[in-house]
Amino acid sequence: MTNSSVKVRFAPSPTGLIHIGNARTAIVNWLHAKKQGGKFILRFDDTDTTRSKQEYAEAIATDVAWLGLTTDEVHYQSKRFDLYDKAAEKLKADGRLYCCYETADELERKRRRQMATGKPPVYDRTGYNLTDDDRAKLEAEGRKPHWRFKLTDKVVESVDLIRGEQNIDMASLSDPVLIREDGTYLYTLPSVVDDIDMGVTDVIRGEDHVVNTSVQIEIFEALDATPPTFAHHSLLVGADGKSLSKRIGSLSIGGMRELGLEAMAVVSHAALLGTSEAIAPHQSLDTLIEVFDISKMSRAPARFDIEEVKNLNAKLLHDMALEAVQSRLADMGIEADEAFWLAVRGNINVLADVKQWHEVVSGDVTAVIADEDKDFIAQAAGVLPEGDFDETTWKTWTAAVKEATGRKGKGLFMPLRLALTGLPHGPELAGLLPLIGREKVLARLA
Ligand code: GLU
Repeated sequence: MTNSSVKVRFAPSPTGLIHIGNARTAIVNWLHAKKQGGKFILRFDDTDTTRSKQEYAEAIATDVAWLGLTTDEVHYQSKRFDLYDKAAEKLKADGRLYCCYETADELERKRRRQMATGKPPVYDRTGYNLTDDDRAKLEAEGRKPHWRFKLTDKVVESVDLIRGEQNIDMASLSDPVLIREDGTYLYTLPSVVDDIDMGVTDVIRGEDHVVNTSVQIEIFEALDATPPTFAHHSLLVGADGKSLSKRIGSLSIGGMRELGLEAMAVVSHAALLGTSEAIAPHQSLDTLIEVFDISKMSRAPARFDIEEVKNLNAKLLHDMALEAVQSRLADMGIEADEAFWLAVRGNINVLADVKQWHEVVSGDVTAVIADEDKDFIAQAAGVLPEGDFDETTWKTWTAAVKEATGRKGKGLFMPLRLALTGLPHGPELAGLLPLIGREKVLARLA
């Protein structure tokens, strides 16, 4: 069923590069929206203006584009403070946002006392109960307020597209701080304000946000909005079972690009990992959209292993059409035609491996001819078919070589391969022979 009013957002904080775990969130959002003809928003959660950097935002946008995820809208939270101020004023006027004056130390001591007496470390709402006089006195001491959102004591119920029914008892949570002492916003409120203002219908993010969601549902309601649909996917762990968050390097999207991996290998893997669908390489997002279904995502943490992406990458290339790579090959200085591409694509792990086979076909190859094979190679050269080579030449030639020398199997093929390519492995010689051409073949055999 398609529902073109679906709108999702990928909302990274541009405080660093994105890794495969973040990219997976973006990919899942995009596929979920596009499967239904909906829209995908890229929103930079950059309210933390000291840690956010424009260069990271640009790098993230580059990564998202490289993955093939087209964006329908791009927004920066740092340009939208007016909206957050307005929402905060409303919450204050409604008595849902209240000021508090405790220092971090004081809060910590409170928490310890609560725990020591067996109580849950939930904020005691001292701030909420302050009188005007109390506040005036605290401010006279030079204290500045931070602002907390007053939660209800209800059980917030929601239906998660991946986790199913969710119930969170709000009485077990502390009223969250929405505005810091210096007046800056934490992520919680701007995110809700934007989701309302941008018409986001489905919020899909990692399960580290499950508790935030219950809080944010109450903020949506306090701002007189209907909360969106939520989905929380499990987080990726490394091959060693540990969290990915601290390791960037080759797990960054830029790092994968540098390894020469195809975007569709990364996207296919990230989209299908941890789902009930088999992981297979998809040549395009169109076919991936067809098999992708958010409800097939498992709640168990998914194990990410870069080696699996490398394998998928090779498989993807082995079936890739020439048109998909022709211009990139041209950028490498390789004018590839169909015959060349079909001859070599099965022998590459990354596209750059084509260079080696291009050299073998068109460049100078140092023939490897062992002393004991010298006569054999000379005899083989003697029975080389005349005229233009085609894909049948190899068969005709090797039959004649067998006839003339009595050699067969590896003893026949390997010396020919070494002489013609300089290497003990590589693409089928039947395909390479016409590409190398008679003149070069003779020269290498000589
Ligand atoms: N900036 C938040 C994060 O990166 C966004 C979470 C969300 O999608 O709401 O965790």
